[in-house]
Amino acid sequence: MTAVEFKQVSKTWGSTTALQPTELELGAGEFSVLLGPSGCGKTTTLRLIAGLETPSTGTIRIFGDDVTHAPPAARGVSMVFQNYALFPHLSVQENVAFGLKIRKTEKGEIEERLSRVLDLLGLGALRERKPSQLSGGQQQRVALARALVADARLCLMDEPLSNLDAKLRQSMREELRALQQKLELSLVYVTHDQTEAMSMADRVVLLRDGKIEQIASPTEIYQQPASLFVAQFIGSTKMNVLPVRDKCIESTDVTVSAPENAVSLGIRPEDISFEGSVDATVTHTEFTGADLLVHMQVGHHPITARADGKAVIQPHTQVKLGWQPSSQHWFDAQGLRIS
Ligand code: ATP
Repeated sequence: MTAVEFKQVSKTWGSTTALQPTELELGAGEFSVLLGPSGCGKTTTLRLIAGLETPSTGTIRIFGDDVTHAPPAARGVSMVFQNYALFPHLSVQENVAFGLKIRKTEKGEIEERLSRVLDLLGLGALRERKPSQLSGGQQQRVALARALVADARLCLMDEPLSNLDAKLRQSMREELRALQQKLELSLVYVTHDQTEAMSMADRVVLLRDGKIEQIASPTEIYQQPASLFVAQFIGSTKMNVLPVRDKCIESTDVTVSAPENAVSLGIRPEDISFEGSVDATVTHTEFTGADLLVHMQVGHHPITARADGKAVIQPHTQVKLGWQPSSQHWFDAQGLRIS
């Protein structure tokens, strides 16, 4: 079953193209993440699904229903925004029940659903409080409760954790992921944070300049990036990219078994070992606790390796590097993966 389907959907404003004609299918019960740099079209895509924008071309289906021209309220979709959008003068329970009251849901049913959702999110004891009497994380939970209480068939979230500090974000990520799995929610989540995307998603949709670069599971997108752009966008430390010419790393005498049309060799920092035959000079190191990032120069090119945090490697020393052939990623002149 498909939760969201785009057929040739595009969105332009005058000469600005926010989304190029796009084909997209997001699975029911899946945690789908729209990921990409600022301005790539993530929010536009989410707003098109919500019905807050109408597409310039194409057809949008939600669970098979053509909703291209349906108003937001008729789509069976709920939405959580970055700023929570809670009513400051209403209590937690009034905020959560607001949508149900508008729809004139029967009082007993409101109370039943309210209690269930507040318990689910650990908000039971806070139901009388006003938003100003809650922490950021609790406010975020109220926003989440409000989205869940409606039992919408699809839940949309636009950077919902970005106002929280790093530690709380981490725990809310785990909570949200667990909740999504428990309720088998169909969820579409926007973020520009690749760690957030990788840790939560069943499926990552990576956008660039209004175009989908790759749709894949976090594992696949990490292990088999479809392009140089994806390779360098995903990963907490960027993938190294070395230019290759005539089966040699440029400006070195290091030979590599490059495919015919390869112009770039990608290697992740964690795939580089300090045993091998490639000469490098250490420029500086960065201690992160668990790891030591070792920044080096191979020929004229910068390269970074991730060593164990306990390793002792001094700047301005010569080292020898190596890597497994299976950890090499090859890209052509267009930046596309050669597999
Ligand atoms: P961010 O991470 O910064 O929120 P995004 O990936 O969500 O970015 P969008 O907000 O979808 O990007 O914007 C995509 C492009 O469309 C941008 O170039 C933006 O300036 C443009 N855009 C978005 N909304 C409008 C609008 N209402 N009118 C004109 N241009 C718009």
